[in-house]
Amino acid sequence: MSEILIISGKGGTGKTSLTAAFSHLARKHVLCDLDVDAPDLHLLLHPENTVVTEFYSGHEAIIDIEKCDNCGVCSDVCEFDAITHTNVLPTISPLKCEGCKVCVEFCPSDAINFPEKHCGQWYKSDTRFGPMLHAQLIPGEENSGRLVALLRQNAKAFAKEQALDLVLSDGPPGIGCPVISALTGTDLAVIVTEATPSGFHDMARVTDLCHFFKIPVGIIINKCDINQDQTNEINQYCRKNDIELIAELPHDVAVTNAMVKGMTITEFQENGFSDLVKKAWQKIEKMAGTS
Ligand code: SF4
Ligand code: SF4
Repeated sequence: MSEILIISGKGGTGKTSLTAAFSHLARKHVLCDLDVDAPDLHLLLHPENTVVTEFYSGHEAIIDIEKCDNCGVCSDVCEFDAITHTNVLPTISPLKCEGCKVCVEFCPSDAINFPEKHCGQWYKSDTRFGPMLHAQLIPGEENSGRLVALLRQNAKAFAKEQALDLVLSDGPPGIGCPVISALTGTDLAVIVTEATPSGFHDMARVTDLCHFFKIPVGIIINKCDINQDQTNEINQYCRKNDIELIAELPHDVAVTNAMVKGMTITEFQENGFSDLVKKAWQKIEKMAGTS
């Protein structure tokens, strides 16, 4: 069983549309949306949730007003200014509380509870392309790296149980904790970039990250015809760093038309663009050893 991760280093390169098209083309696989802070694969695939699991991570302080004698100690010791002490009762801001437990330890009345924090949900679902695992963090919640790790772990276990050959994941943007969590130990990272200076910059950053973790990399240049100089620069970069350039995809309005219809480009129409996407997928499968 192999794991292929589609990433971009930045948002808006067409990564998710391509991941959905690859999912349409892939055989025995489970699809995984690891962009847990802003998932959007579901908009194209309309998954039907079969299992919903709550996600808890870290802890939060909650005052038991029955026990609190309003001494103000908790507000004095909180380094994060999460507790407002008034002459009525102290209140804790859930957005500011870092779950350090100091107030719990110092409260003389044992009036602060410290339950696990509810941060979101994750789902096992059915889609027209097969099973999918995805999640949704509650806005403002952290620990997306943990949720990514949890999804990957469950996707791999599910693939094994169902004798599937591949976990195909849509990765988070950037180079932070969620991406590292999505990347480590994967078999192949496919970086979707676009022919712009910011696309190049962010692609180079995430490529460095992949190299650091010794993950094989392939690059797709999307909208390669919007800036030929930039496309040439990405080509040079790939040659210089011995990176496989999987495909150069031109701007094609059919991609937008497909999205408007809620379809992938490979479902929407047979044209030059969808042929290029099919060829790109064949290359990716070969690189990951799944063809
Ligand atoms: S330290 Fe405990 S008793 Fe004192 S104000 Fe805070 S919660 Fe209430
Ligand atoms: S757990 Fe830590 S951050 Fe949260 S309110 Fe208590 S002292 Fe402040």
